[in-house]
Formats: sequence, C-alpha cells, structure tokens
Amino acid sequence: MKAATKAFAMRALTNGPAYGLMRAYALKSQPTTILCYHTLRPDNQPLDAWVALRESDFLAQVQMLRRYYDIVSLDDGLAPAPKGRRPRAVLTFDDGEVGLFDHLLPIVKAMDLPVTVYVATAHIETQTSFWFDRVMNALQRAGQTQVILEGFGKWDIGPERGKNRWAGIGAVLEAIKTAPTEQRDALADDVVAQAGSETGGFTPLQPMRLAQLQEMASDPRITIGAHSHGHELLDQLSIAEATLSIERSRDLLKAWTGHEICHFAYPNGNYTPQLMEALEKVGFISATILEDRLVQEGAPALAIPRIGVGRYDTLDRLKLRLVGI
Ligand SMILES: [Zn+2]
Repeated sequence: MKAATKAFAMRALTNGPAYGLMRAYALKSQPTTILCYHTLRPDNQPLDAWVALRESDFLAQVQMLRRYYDIVSLDDGLAPAPKGRRPRAVLTFDDGEVGLFDHLLPIVKAMDLPVTVYVATAHIETQTSFWFDRVMNALQRAGQTQVILEGFGKWDIGPERGKNRWAGIGAVLEAIKTAPTEQRDALADDVVAQAGSETGGFTPLQPMRLAQLQEMASDPRITIGAHSHGHELLDQLSIAEATLSIERSRDLLKAWTGHEICHFAYPNGNYTPQLMEALEKVGFISATILEDRLVQEGAPALAIPRIGVGRYDTLDRLKLRLVGI
C-alpha cells in the first residue's frame, strides 16, 4: 500500500467506532501499558534519530493517553489493578540522555507527569557518549555520507533528511551491534572518522551531567532505574560480567541519588532466563524488555514487556500498537 493510503486507512481505523471496541477488548483484563522512550528534542532540531522524539509528538501522545488511561508511576503500574480505576499506562525513558533534563523534566513539572528513567551509568560517570550516540551524531551531517566498515558492510546515508536517512543510520547501528562488545567503540570511531563530527543545528546526543541526573532524581514524580553500566548487550557477556555491570549501575545510582534502585531495563531489551535469575539475586523487583505486548497480571516480574516508541511512530500507528495490532 502507498504510504499516503496506508496513513489514511490508519487514521480512519484509529478514529472510528471500531477502535473504541478494540481498545475495550485489549484492556478488558486490566493490563498495564508500558511505553519505552529514549529522549526528546525541540521540533526545530533536524535530528534524524529514532531515539529523539519531537517534543510536540510526545505531548500529543501524553494527551491521547490521558484521555483513556491514568499515567502512573512504575510501582503503581506493576501493582495489582485497583478496582474501578481507569487503565494504567507507564512512561519510561532509557539511557540518560541530556534531552531528559532539558526537555522532559520541564514537562514532568508542568504536567505533573510520573515517569521512569533507566540510566546506564558509564556515560554519566565519564561524560563520554556511548558508541551508538556518537554514530548517530556523526551521521547527521548534511548531504550524502558513505560509511564502509570492513567485514560489516557499506552504506550510503542521506542525502535527504528524515525516515530514509534514519533507515541507513539504523542499519549501521545494527551492524555494529553484531561486533564483539570490545570492538564497538573502535567501529564507532571509524564511522566518526568517515563522517566528521559536525553537529550544526542540533544538540548532539550526549549524557546528562551528574548534577542534572541528581536534580531529576530529586523530583518525586521521577523513578530512577538501572540500565547496566556500559550499556552492554548483557546476553553477549558471561553471567559474571553481566552481573558486575548490573551491580555497578545499581550501586552508582544509589550513591548518586540516595534512592534504593529496584527497577532495571535490559539494554536493547536483550534478556535470558539466566539474566532474570541474576537480577533477582541482586535484588531487583522488576526488569523490562522490549516487546509489543501489554503487561498482564501475573507476568514474570523480570521480563516485563514495553512498547518502544520513537521519532517515526505516528500517533495513529501508536494507537494501533496499544491495542495489539
Ligand atoms: Zn538503552
């Protein structure tokens, strides 16, 4: 189907009477809907990155959600469904990028909006962007950029901005994820060397400063969770290495914020039964993954599904995913 026809069909479906029935059916068993975001940017910043949602899109999503759901904290969302309450939705944000402080925190305050922020601690501690943020920043340069990574592939990024450029950038990121953990930084350096590091017109993806994280953590509407130390894909490490990363992120966040850190999000959503066991031993009460499902009562606490939402998800597309389509 042509993109315009498809968008029209989605608009008709999500705004017609059938959608109300689909929502009622999807929410019949009183599940909780958990969304996974990453960061926000003002609408006027030309950043082609799935992780960077436009502020106005986020606000429209919150408005839509509030019409039908109570947006609650993660703890409330994971508690048994209270009788007679509206369906519950939980908003979570992964990584700890600076847009959370610059753009999400003011929205949290203005709208009295509970959110959870899962922080990978290494980039806060070292103030050095993770490899994936460096790759995304480097590939924003105007015009066409060719990226060649020996043994991984060759990509032409651009020249146009938008969804197509992101498809190319996303392909580079996915290729680098297949490399061993210790090689990813060098591959990102290679991409930066080929693309340059201009960052005109937008705030580069970069970690929050520690004081900014602490300010966010001091807001009672914000729950801080752990997201590993180095944002490693934990299923690719030995369980001993993975446990070290998990514990290090929890211990640093506890020391930085003064809060007990009880919730975890697996980087990239990668999890295994062994990792679930390790998290339980370490003392986490919940851990979230990335799967387009709602959280049903009795779901395993250490593999809780979240629906990932990014810059290229339209409101209508999101509405369909919320009802399992
Ligand atoms: Zn992440």
